[in-house]
Amino acid sequence: MTEEQQVFLKHIQQKGLKRTSQRDLILDVFLRTEEHLSSEDLYRLVKQEDPSIGQTTVYRTLKLLSEAGLAREVRFGDGRTHYEHNYKHQHHDHMICSECGKIIEFFSAELEAIQDAMAAKHKFEVTQHLLRIIGLCSDCRRARKLGIKGDATPQLRSKVASGRSIR
Ligand SMILES: [Zn+2]
Ligand SMILES: [Zn+2]
Ligand SMILES: [Zn+2]
Repeated sequence: MTEEQQVFLKHIQQKGLKRTSQRDLILDVFLRTEEHLSSEDLYRLVKQEDPSIGQTTVYRTLKLLSEAGLAREVRFGDGRTHYEHNYKHQHHDHMICSECGKIIEFFSAELEAIQDAMAAKHKFEVTQHLLRIIGLCSDCRRARKLGIKGDATPQLRSKVASGRSIR
């Protein structure tokens, strides 16, 4: 069993739930995907491997993964909740291209320190923070400069998660 599987098993046992092959498969597919998946995205991937798994099972399992600390919720402003790996992954923040939906992950110790200092100044205890910067990626800026029309259907889907190297 991998470390992640052990964490998950411990969590579902604490909740009085049983280990099932469906839950195992959902965890496995989630861990294999280095992306910011919504529950619909994950459902689509899981269904390819086991068509008998329902969307509700995928949704509930994702909730369990978050509770267990294996997944974390991220929101990109498209009204959907996306999930990414959380276990032993360093904290990072996101830049989102409003044109093509590309998501760039970044980490800045200076920025984190400033946020902590601001919180301390206001005697505020931080439990979580989500920093998201919206704008245009370099490809889309170049395309604009050249007068090429970008993707006409901007989808805030994680097509490319560049900057993965920072984790
Ligand atoms: Zn941050
Ligand atoms: Zn872009
Ligand atoms: Zn991320």
